[in-house]
Order: sequence, then structure tokens, then C-alpha cells
Amino acid sequence: MQTAGRLSGKIALVTGAASGLGEAISRRYAAEGARVILADIDSAAAQAVAASLGADARHVRLDVTDEQSWLAALEGVKSQEGRLDVLVNNAGITTMGSIESLSVAGFKNMLEIDLVGVFIGCKHAAPLMRPRGGSIINMSSMCGIRAQADLAGYNAAKAGVTLLTKSVALHYAKQGDKIRCNSIHPGAIRTPILDKVMSQVEDPKALLASFEAVHPIGRLGRPEEIAAIAVYLASDESAFATGAEFVVDGGSSL
Ligand code: NAD
Repeated sequence: MQTAGRLSGKIALVTGAASGLGEAISRRYAAEGARVILADIDSAAAQAVAASLGADARHVRLDVTDEQSWLAALEGVKSQEGRLDVLVNNAGITTMGSIESLSVAGFKNMLEIDLVGVFIGCKHAAPLMRPRGGSIINMSSMCGIRAQADLAGYNAAKAGVTLLTKSVALHYAKQGDKIRCNSIHPGAIRTPILDKVMSQVEDPKALLASFEAVHPIGRLGRPEEIAAIAVYLASDESAFATGAEFVVDGGSSL
């Protein structure tokens, strides 16, 4: 890819970087000149992606639900890179289920990964960003704005991310820290998470058709189309944006 160097000199940590949107964002960040730390619970897969990006990328094993894991990863950033400019809280899972069918354990597990993981990242990345300011980008979803009957836990977690983002943005702005925090709200994007969702239902083809049908643009999104907004939010071009919802959903929330 032709690089415009929009992130030249930036140091970015991306969670869930081994697959799907996190991988696409990491690849685009590297192409734009950033040094990228690819963090994922699937260490081997993150290592493989990092290796393909060359010397300006490395990987780290991170379980976003585990505060100690975060502290260790960020300590590594402090000692190896010295600071952090961009954090993308992207790691997440989707478990299908309505209020009746989703188990309490399934609900709690999704909140742990999709919401608590984001909370811990926002909390502990700030000290590494504070000296120069930084950008925190939280991956919510169109499901963090609009409800679906069979996504009770995912709706709750992603809506939590939407408002947590605004609280974090307000806090750091009021402190004069120059740390911005915004959320991205993709529509359905063709990544491995969709295959995992389809494997949970009886009629995957019908589910896929229903996903396509809710997008007025008439198709699913592509990971690169989410990476593009993540570049804008990581760059200084978005210096006046904080606490905002960036919806990239093919019109599905209209
Ligand atoms: P994906 O399944 O392709 O990738 C998710 C990554 O997160 C995987 O590499 C996985 O190993 C990692 N991960 C899971 N649990 C983790 C943990 N505890 N700690 C660290 N890493 C962990 O999914 P994706 O489609 O790339 O989704 C990325 C994010 O985008 C998720 O937050 C998802 O909810 C959100 N999102 C996706 C879509 C979509 O249609 N693909 C739409 C809206 C929002």
C-alpha cells in the first residue's frame, strides 16, 4: 500500500490485533508510518501478523480482561518505546442470545472482554500518554447504539463502551491532559467474528442475508473501511474530536 505517513512517528498499541479489524488497523497504521504493538490473547497469531509488518511492529500477549496482563504489556511499552500515542481498544467477542436464552455466565464473559477490557485499557494507558497527549479509540458497534433482540449481552457491552468513551473523554479533557477518546461503530464487517456468530445459529445463510439486508448500502463492510476511520482518529487531523461516536455502518442505523 502507498503510505502517506499520516501516523509517522506515532506509537500505537492495538488490542485484538491478530485478526479481523485489529489486524487491518495494525496493517494500515504500519503503512502510515506508526510503530505498532500488536496485542492479543492469541500470541502466535499476533506474532505472525507482526512479523509480516517488519521491524516497526512487535507483538505482545495480552488478555484484556486481566489487569496484571495490561500492566505488564504497558510496562513493556514504557521500557521499549518510552511512551504511547495511540491505544485502540478493539479486542472483542460476540455471543448471540436474547435476555431469555443468554446465560448469566455468557453475559458476564462478554462484559468482561468487550467492556471491562476497554475500561482497564483506558485507565492504565493514560500515564504513558500524558506527557505528549494521545488518542484512545474504542471499538463499539452499531449494536452499541441500536438494540437487537438476539444480542442482549453484546448490546449491553457495546452501549457501555459508547458512554464509557464519553466519560473518559470528559475526564481527560477537564484535566487538560490532551488525551482524546472516541468510539467507532461499525456495521457488519466481513471478519472471522462473523463466521463465529454464524456458527452459533441453525441457518447461517439466512443470518448472513439478514446482516446484508440491514445495510442500505447493500453489502457488508470491509475491514479496510474501518481501518480508514481509525487512521483519522489516531492522527493529529482529529485533534478537535473527543467523546464522539464515529458511525461507519453502511447506513444501517438510519
Ligand atoms: P475477530 O474475531 O476477527 O478478532 C477479535 C480478536 O480479539 C481476535 O484476534 C481474538 O484473539 C482477540 N481477543 C478475544 N478475546 C481477547 C482477550 N480477552 N484479550 C485479548 N484479545 C482477545 O473480530 P473482529 O470482527 O475483528 O472484531 C474486532 C472488534 O470489532 C470487536 O470488538 C467487535 O465487537 C467489533 N465489531 C466487529 C464488527 C464486525 O462485524 N466484524 C462489527 C462491529 C463491531
